[in-house]
Amino acid sequence: MHQHNIAATTVENYKKLHDAGIGTYILFQETYHKKSYEALHPTGPKHNYAYHTEAMDRAMEGGIDDVGLGVLFGLELYRYELAGLLMHAEHLEAVHGVGPHTISVPRIQPADDIDPEDFDNGIDDDTFAKLIAIIRIAVPYTGMIISTRESAEVRKKALRLGISQISGGSRTSVGGYVEEEKVEENSAQFDVSDRRTLDEVVRWLMELGYIPSFCTACYREGRTGDRFMALCKSGQIQNCCHPNALMTLEEYLVDYASPETRAIGEKVIAEQLNNIPKEKVRQIAEKYIEEIKNNGKRDFRF
Ligand code: SF4
Repeated sequence: MHQHNIAATTVENYKKLHDAGIGTYILFQETYHKKSYEALHPTGPKHNYAYHTEAMDRAMEGGIDDVGLGVLFGLELYRYELAGLLMHAEHLEAVHGVGPHTISVPRIQPADDIDPEDFDNGIDDDTFAKLIAIIRIAVPYTGMIISTRESAEVRKKALRLGISQISGGSRTSVGGYVEEEKVEENSAQFDVSDRRTLDEVVRWLMELGYIPSFCTACYREGRTGDRFMALCKSGQIQNCCHPNALMTLEEYLVDYASPETRAIGEKVIAEQLNNIPKEKVRQIAEKYIEEIKNNGKRDFRF
């Protein structure tokens, strides 16, 4: 997965990152509430609220057209943060013609190094679920990301409500929509709640009826920014996502999965191939999957 978290910077630096092939640029807004933001960063490089909040505009000016938003729920009142987040998405679409590629939903956990006396707006699981559902409806084209800081139970519910991307495990390094948890700047203090391996998470997703996908085809095909958004909003992207999911899942099964996960996965793939509506696409996908399984071929994509 080509996603990167890098602090707010200049248009020139964003250009460099774009030229280096950064992929999706993710930057969280800790809070959209200016006063609270400034209280959180009384000094230091992150002090300037406007500079931080306008980072995505500079990133897009610099040519990065896939950006990921997120607000840390719990610092300020969640209604304010939700409105800020949705307005941010609306703003990017209005000004740059491309809304957020992803939205992440981090929330403050008891382990966080933040004084609860100062910021006591933590949200419960039900409110969290509601927020996910609202973001899903309000920004239907965006990918939604939940981290391993949430428990398996919370993640299960969140998947039903619209989360499309989860991270899992820390043992196997593969790119994709089910992704190894990245080590972040301050991850030492992060309390990971879902400690299952990637293999366990992949199996669990299939048992819940989902197709785990490791697809990164759009980025590699240059389907980014407004090109991607058009395909996504019309729903046509599904014709790529579905067969790509099956092919990348097959790669995962062959290269990394435990025998048990592989057995379940092969069954899912066989069933799902029948659900590809276009005869021709189905035949090609079947052929590619055979090539992956039997001839060691990799990296097919629609
Ligand atoms: S084809 Fe679908 S799953 Fe693959 S990168 Fe594009 S949007 Fe994501």
